[in-house]
Amino acid sequence: MEMTDVNLLFRQAFEYSILEIAPKKFAQYVYNTTSLSDHTFPIKKEVFNKMRSVLIDQMTFDLEKNKELLVNSKALSKLNLDVLDTFAGKTVLHSAGKNLGLQIGKTVQEIDFRRYILEINNLIEKWNAGKIRIKKFDQSSIDFVLIDNIFSKNIRQNRTICYFMSGFFQGILEDYTNTYWNVIETKCSAKGDEYCEFQARNI
Ligand SMILES: [Zn+2]
Repeated sequence: MEMTDVNLLFRQAFEYSILEIAPKKFAQYVYNTTSLSDHTFPIKKEVFNKMRSVLIDQMTFDLEKNKELLVNSKALSKLNLDVLDTFAGKTVLHSAGKNLGLQIGKTVQEIDFRRYILEINNLIEKWNAGKIRIKKFDQSSIDFVLIDNIFSKNIRQNRTICYFMSGFFQGILEDYTNTYWNVIETKCSAKGDEYCEFQARNI
């Protein structure tokens, strides 16, 4: 397995989440409405069309049979930066990640919190998107790291960029606890840090 490959399912999940969330969020920001149309979609048209064409291409695959199929992660990182650099990009990525986290959380039937997180970690590893390591844990506060984070391990930026993943973890926690969390990224391998680090706080 190449270091730069990411599981196709994760890439699809990423793109689908953005497609699902971005129009609503942008519409809320720009026009204070949730009605959708092409005119209320400020992501650059070519970025959106690229996402859509990739998504439609990949939907022709049989997902179960192609579970292990890998696609190059550079395109995923690039797409992440393209969206990040658009208006309200951070919020869109965070919300898209949270949406995916909420959906994924519902598929994991674990009562015990540590086993729940272990299941999530197994999934992320299977996606080839990184590995979770918990540093500090109590009821209302969790510090954890994501090693080999697919979004940031192969690029250099002078900022934290993993808003999709902070949103994803927020969704995971909110689904499990049925309460609200705030998750922020405090270190990022894109900035040269050893790994991406996140702080989750119950609010
Ligand atoms: Zn990061």
